[in-house]
Amino acid sequence: MNERTLAFLKKAYREYYFRKSDSIGFPDEIQSREFGYIPFGGGMVRHLSFKSAGDAAAEILRQSPSSVYCSNARYESPTLPMESKGWKGAELIFDIDATDIPTSCKKSHDFWYCEKCHANGRLPKPPTCPKCKGQTADFHGTCSVCLAASKEHTLRVVDFLLKDFGVSRKDIATFFSGNRGYHLQVYDKRFEQLDQQARAEIADYVLGGSLPPSQTLAATIRHRPKESPSEAYGWMRRIRAYTQSRSGYQGTLQKLVSEAVSVQRAMIDASVTTDIHRVFRLAGTLHGNTGMAKMRVGSFETFDPERNPVVISGEKTSLNVSFYPKFTMNGETFGPFNSQLVSLPSYAAVPILTRGFGEVA
Ligand SMILES: [Zn+2]
Ligand SMILES: [Zn+2]
Repeated sequence: MNERTLAFLKKAYREYYFRKSDSIGFPDEIQSREFGYIPFGGGMVRHLSFKSAGDAAAEILRQSPSSVYCSNARYESPTLPMESKGWKGAELIFDIDATDIPTSCKKSHDFWYCEKCHANGRLPKPPTCPKCKGQTADFHGTCSVCLAASKEHTLRVVDFLLKDFGVSRKDIATFFSGNRGYHLQVYDKRFEQLDQQARAEIADYVLGGSLPPSQTLAATIRHRPKESPSEAYGWMRRIRAYTQSRSGYQGTLQKLVSEAVSVQRAMIDASVTTDIHRVFRLAGTLHGNTGMAKMRVGSFETFDPERNPVVISGEKTSLNVSFYPKFTMNGETFGPFNSQLVSLPSYAAVPILTRGFGEVA
């Protein structure tokens, strides 16, 4: 990334933080939180702490970094090394990302590319570039199908929280992640003291990870065919309700049971839920790759992930793009680009520049 590109990105992000510092969603007990950020062109800075939301907002504006993070945990001393921080508890969090959800559209926007000559092709990536022997990397794009799948799996997690864990709706906050999915933050105090092991069990439960094989589940249903879903608990209640709702189904019970699991399990990133020392993207801040905001979703009825989080200005900027696949932002489709000079709204230039596929002209 050259100086001009770096300056452009910093300016674009700063302009947002200057205009919208009140959109940043700071957590409660801000003094007990660990903050971190990644500057453009630099590495992660962690173990920061702020006395107030005003102090934190001022520092975010001053740095206008690529990404800003805040711990879901509260600590006695957030600036000390991890083992000395004095962990006091952490909100339960979930990360639902299209990367973890198998969708048929992936082959149209995911590929490998050569970091040196930008040769590219279908995944899986070759160990080195067949043209120039340069280093290869994965590119994961996104589309409305991916975003719809992420939303569906997010709603599944919410359903588990409401029905299986007895969380009240007001204690669940839903955010667009700024990229390909959603984040959930659960403010129910019952989860705050849970250790890694207990959180891993919750993650596993929503993933349907340690369910018995569908054959065994089907045998349980056959054994007590008349049991109503309301007499069962947890996954068994869900599976019974699903199989009973499909009374005309022609296939085997075992197949129907595996369908019941696959349409209800939520493909979360378990490592996020399990990590009790996570610094998680701060609400209202910009994603380092996309320039889109991590934004609170009030209602999925009205939220449009391809428009609402696009918050960087639409002022035109010229850039040389080495290559970039077709993408949609703010209702407009751009690309594909291949070794060309283009003029784009700033918000559409950002994802190309942050990923190193172009430079400001
Ligand atoms: Zn190459
Ligand atoms: Zn897709």
